[in-house]
Amino acid sequence: MKRLEGKVAIVTASTQGIGFGIAERLGREGAAVVISSRRQRNVDEAVEKLRAKGIEVTGVVCHVANAQHRKNLITKTIEKYKNIDIIVSNAAANPSIEGILASEESVIDKIWEINVKGSILLIKDTAPYLKKGSSVIFVSSITAYHPSESMFMYGVTKTALLGLTKALAAEMAPDTRVNCIAPGFVPTHFSNFLLSNEAIKNEIENRTLVKRLGTVDDIGAAAAFLASDDASYITGETLVVAGGVPSRL
Ligand code: NAP
Repeated sequence: MKRLEGKVAIVTASTQGIGFGIAERLGREGAAVVISSRRQRNVDEAVEKLRAKGIEVTGVVCHVANAQHRKNLITKTIEKYKNIDIIVSNAAANPSIEGILASEESVIDKIWEINVKGSILLIKDTAPYLKKGSSVIFVSSITAYHPSESMFMYGVTKTALLGLTKALAAEMAPDTRVNCIAPGFVPTHFSNFLLSNEAIKNEIENRTLVKRLGTVDDIGAAAAFLASDDASYITGETLVVAGGVPSRL
């Protein structure tokens, strides 16, 4: 399917893992994709991989908490492709496995700065360029619904994204739809601290109804749907992609 032909998509934190999977799927569906992350080497390697798959792609270094980097990401996209139709805010950090009350203020600042403030400022910076029919997608987490041990503060920042989705959907209507994806557990560098433990991995797999972990393609498919006209009557919603792990009624 080529639902995104002629569209331009920015995906943050997209040189590996879920962000890369989203960029690849949007690109396979016809979008020109602008990928980014903090390290030039990672950006260059990811651009090469996507180009080898026939995807129209540009890479830009962007640490989402850096205002100049965000501005550069947007300017480079506009210079090259003229428009922005899809923006996926995917970057997140979980710098500590401490409980909330045991966390240093600097750790709390960092996690909110990347996961929430970075997401807000990215959309604030991009909003002037978004056209009628454009789409914003936040990447939250199943932990948004039920923060789990070793991820309590992280989970709360992901809960904030559910509210941000509702608020911005109202603020950016009717021209821009704003939705969110809440992935379950997907093997990536980020989740390795949990999933490298075989017992925890098995326990998480067994908690799903489909008896498997998620894949980056599962999340990419959800993003492509939300970004496409197939979802033109959907805004302010969070799509849980977690193999049936309980989230809400
Ligand atoms: P990952 O595989 O570790 O990938 C992280 C990517 O983000 C890399 O490309 C990294 O590249 C980049 N990055 C890290 N910090 C960044 C920053 N401050 N600014 C810009 N780029 C940054 O992570 P992932 O598992 O795919 O996670 C992606 C998103 O999915 C996150 O929002 C996470 O909360 C969410 N999520 C993940 C899971 C899971 O089980 N994996 C479940 C639910 C939700 P550089 O090192 O070059 O910056």
